[in-house]
Order: sequence, then structure tokens, then C-alpha cells
Amino acid sequence: MESKIFKLPSSVINQIAAGEVVENPASIVKELIENSLDAGATRIGIEVVDGGQSLIRIEDNGSGMSERDALLSIERHATSKIQETADLQTLSTMGFRGEALAAISSVCHFEMRTCQKKGTRIVADGGSVSLVEPCARNPGTTIEVRSLFYNVPARKKFQKSKSADAAAVTKIVEMIALANERVSFTLNGKELLSRRDEILKEFEHQIQGKGIYGYIAEPAKAGQTRRGQYLFINKRPIFSPLIAKAVKSAFGTRIAEHSHPKFVLFLEMSPDLVDVNVHPQKKEVRFKDESAIFRLVHTAVEKAFAPKKTFSDPIAFNQPISTGSFTENFPSMPLKAFEPELDWIFPQRPLAVFGKYLLLQKEGLLLVDLSSAFARLLFESFVLEAKSAQALMFPLQFPFENGDEEIVEKLMKIGVEARLLKNTLVIDALPNYLEAADFDTFFDEWKVGRKLEEIATKYSRRSKRKFTLEQGTKIWQEVQMCKDPLYDPLGNPIFIHLNEDDFAKLMGKRNG
Ligand code: ADP
Ligand code: MG
Repeated sequence: MESKIFKLPSSVINQIAAGEVVENPASIVKELIENSLDAGATRIGIEVVDGGQSLIRIEDNGSGMSERDALLSIERHATSKIQETADLQTLSTMGFRGEALAAISSVCHFEMRTCQKKGTRIVADGGSVSLVEPCARNPGTTIEVRSLFYNVPARKKFQKSKSADAAAVTKIVEMIALANERVSFTLNGKELLSRRDEILKEFEHQIQGKGIYGYIAEPAKAGQTRRGQYLFINKRPIFSPLIAKAVKSAFGTRIAEHSHPKFVLFLEMSPDLVDVNVHPQKKEVRFKDESAIFRLVHTAVEKAFAPKKTFSDPIAFNQPISTGSFTENFPSMPLKAFEPELDWIFPQRPLAVFGKYLLLQKEGLLLVDLSSAFARLLFESFVLEAKSAQALMFPLQFPFENGDEEIVEKLMKIGVEARLLKNTLVIDALPNYLEAADFDTFFDEWKVGRKLEEIATKYSRRSKRKFTLEQGTKIWQEVQMCKDPLYDPLGNPIFIHLNEDDFAKLMGKRNG
């Protein structure tokens, strides 16, 4: 009988496997750097051309390989890191599958120069070795990946843009650099150290606990995406929805429902509590005891928010004389349960300036434009799905032409509870932040079709509007819960931050 089943040649097997490990230049860079780290390198140089599509070069000062090991290393399932399954339980290295180099070398023009005692140079094209020769090199390893996917046209077609690949490479290198403080990284000749400081500067609050440390950024910085989330388990960059959820739960009501808190989190745990063998790129993990991990993260993050003891300095003389109580002035402003966090949000007492700005001390000064913040609040109270309209003690009434039921429907959509009573339009409730006294101004503009973005902003900017310190702090707190806490509806910044350099510039100081 004729057989229809053939064994695939290893070059084809490797290319298929490459589909899992070698997604794009960034995933190759990640594998190669992890190999360098596993080899004990303290200096790792990364170079990419065209986002890695034309060239990826990783150079390290790690242990290097003998000629025999170098040749073995590009064979599938060749690894120096585990010998039996039991080793998986105690794994401390990043790699272990022994398939990265085999996969990578099968989809490019590959070159390795490595030296343990003697130097060896290996050249391979699409997975087949074409040259092995001695070479001169200091201890360590250099790997070059040229013309990625040149022999896999289907993959090449689906390559992303060079700039997207370059950005992904930068992010992965930054992540790994963040987790490995003692190793110096250069990316395209630039030292990454300063960049690491820059990243960490964004995260104001430190997390510390047994087996967990890291940083979180203020709730106001929470983003629409998970881009600001860096998680490492045993130094390995990992994606874990469970942990992201635990962090978010600790943020509680400090952030809006759909935003993502920013964090850099390092977990150290015994390898037998976590299974990294789930995802081919080792990007995802499975935990033995999910609820224990959840609690650990939740508690540690919550602690980072605990009010710090501060001396509240007597600056009452700066406080503007309040005209009436806050709730009197803002009958419609909802009161949320923030108070216990006041200390955290305002470790230093803020100042109201010109009745228009709020000045907060926070690694320099934070200057909040209250009318922009208010415009944001007002706008979101029109468009947010979950509306909380405030009933009016005395419903407003407007004479209205017959026959326009549609307007009632439209008003209801933006949180204005309205009804038609013969020739009168009756307004029973208004969205938060829209005051009854201002409704007719609002209504005139809205009727003629002005955009809510413009109305909200214009209404908040009216020169007669002044905010007291109390109102200002409330607005600042509330705006941090907004979907977009950074800009007013027309795109003006809600706050600016002034650091020491900015002050020097304001004072006209020059270096030297
Ligand atoms: P894994 O890392 O899963 O073991 P790889 O295919 O990534 O598999 O690497 C295969 C082997 O090649 C490694 O186990 C290691 O012994 C060796 N190796 C790879 N890169 C380096 C390097 N930069 N320095 C020293 N040895 C390396
Ligand atoms: Mg590896």
C-alpha cells in the first residue's frame, strides 16, 4: 500500500514552530535578550534596522558557547537549561524550551559569533548551516538576524510597518531593562539607563511587600489602554489579566470604570507556584493559587495608597473667603465618598488662585485650570451613559411652540429631564454640573445646534465664574474620575505640571 504520510523535514518543522515563537521582530529581540541574560551577560547591545525587518543584532558579554554547543543551539529542543520535566518546577532561567534559536534561524539569514575559550562563527540561511569557522571575539555572543522572513513569503506579507515594529522593539527592550537594573542595555547605540529613570518618574507611589514591589501612578494618569502596565514575574515580562484586575480593584473608586491604572510591578515567587509553560512566547502565566495572588497584589497596592502622615501647615490665610457653603453654590454637585482619600490626594494643601486655578504641590507644582476641569465634568455629565440627573426643587418652565415632541426626547438623551405641558416645556431635572440658573443660556445655544463640547467649554469659561478653594478641590477630585481626565472637551489641558527646570526657565536662568 502506498503511504500518504511523510515525516516533515526539520527545516519545515522549525518554520512551523517559528509561527509561535517568532511573531515579529520584537518577539525575536525578546528571546535573544533573554538568552543573553540567561548566559549571565552584564552588557547587552541591541541594534535594529527598519524596526528589525532588515537587521537585528544582539551582542552580549555572557558566557558564550563552545563550537559544539553553538551548533546544537540552533537545533530544535536543544537547551542547556532543563534536562527533565522536574526541572521545570525549579526553573530560574527565562528560556527553557530550546526552540527560540532553531525557530529564529529558520526564517532569516542568521549569523552567530560566540566565544567561550575559542571563537566560533556560524552562518545559516533559512535554517541550514552554510559555514562554521573559527573567529576572533571576546567572551560572549553576537547574533545577527538579517532579512527576516525572506523565505516565508506568507509571513513577510503580514509584517507590520517598520515604525510599528520599531516601537514594539523599544517597548520590549525597555521592559526588560526595567526588570534588570544591574545589566546595562543599549538600543541602537543609546544607553537605556536614563530612559528607565524617565519611565519610573511617572510612577509616584511605591509598592512594597513580601514578594512584591513596584510602583503605581496616580489615578489621574490612568489610561484608556494597558500601555502603562508593566508586569514582571521573576523578572520575566508577563501579561496577566488577573493581576491587572487585582491592581485595578485596589484603585477602587479612584479611577473610572473603563480606565486602566498605570503600574510597574515585580512579583517574585517560587517557580512551583507559577506555570510559565502555558504560552509559547511565555507571555502568559498560570498561578497555582489565583485568589492568594489576587489578595497579595490587591493588599500591596492598597497599602501604597494609605494616607501618609503629613503636617498640615497653617496656610489658612491663603484660603479665599468662602461665599456660602459649597453645597449651596453647587446644589447639583454629587457628593461621592472621597473623603478618606483626601490626605492621599492632597498631602499638601492646595491654593485657589484668581478663583480660576488650583495650585497643588506635587513633585513641583500642578496648576489646574478649573474652568477646563469643570467643562470636562459638565460635558461628561451630558454624554455619559449612566446619567445621574439632579431633580429641581422648582421645575423650570419655558413657553414652547406646539408640535415639537422631538425636543423632549433629545433633552432626555443628554440628562435633562423634560416634558411638554401644552405650550410649556417643563424641566424637572438637570444633569450634574448644569445649574438651574444657567439653563436658559445653555438651552439657547443647544437649540440652535451648537456642539456640546463647545457649549460646555464656553459655559465654564464665563468670566464671572469664580471657584472657591472648596469647589476647586472638589472639581479636581471629580475630574480625575472622568473618562478623559486630561483635557477639556475642546482639547485644552486641564492641568500643567511645573518641575524644577520649568521654574528655572521661568526665572530666566541659564546654564553655565
Ligand atoms: P532556550 O533558551 O529555551 O534554552 P534557545 O533556543 O533560546 O533555547 O537557546 C538554546 C541554547 O543556546 C540555550 O539553552 C543556551 O545554552 C544557548 N544560548 C543561546 N543564546 C545564548 C547566548 N547569548 N549566550 C550563551 N548561550 C546561549
Ligand atoms: Mg532562549
